[in-house]
Amino acid sequence: MNYYSTQVTNLIEELRHLPGIGSKTAQRLAFHIINMPEDHVNHLAEVIVSARKNIRYCKYCCTLTDTEVCPICASEKRDHSTIMVVEHTKDLAAYERTGQYDGVYHVLQGTLVPSLGKGPEDIRFKELMDRLDHPDHTPVKELILATNSSLDGEATAMYIAKKVKSRNIKVTRIASGVPIGGELEYIDEVTLSRALDGRIEL
Ligand code: ZN
Repeated sequence: MNYYSTQVTNLIEELRHLPGIGSKTAQRLAFHIINMPEDHVNHLAEVIVSARKNIRYCKYCCTLTDTEVCPICASEKRDHSTIMVVEHTKDLAAYERTGQYDGVYHVLQGTLVPSLGKGPEDIRFKELMDRLDHPDHTPVKELILATNSSLDGEATAMYIAKKVKSRNIKVTRIASGVPIGGELEYIDEVTLSRALDGRIEL
């Protein structure tokens, strides 16, 4: 039975499809939005539409950005011969907050998930290999694998290490200190810096 008008139901349904939003939260958000002043609602809608339209993946490192090349890839101050591989843009942000890293990044936008059959074609793996092999790219001296220490993060790091092995590139893995199953974005900056300093060659 439909307790609400169709429009309210549609709004609840759309919100319910967002990650981490259950039926009750969706209802609460929907009624909150309906009770907001109209200009706030318009602004919220505009911000969402504009973000979706303008935010894209950096041509080189695949992070989310609103320019063709992100500010880090475009910077001459960064060491382009060192690439740190992370899972998501939020992980890149965590390392940037440490202020201890001056290389560039590669954002996979996910991990391999062997248990669900999610393979290298489902993440930005090919883009990474293209970067390593591209004649115009600064020759890469070190690839730092900084995926999370979850099962999938480890599987992804091992897969990349194996694929890169034949190239003349030093491959390192960030040290433990990042707790097992730890999500990078929640780990404090000191721990992250230590994990980076203590990285080991694979
Ligand atoms: Zn970039």
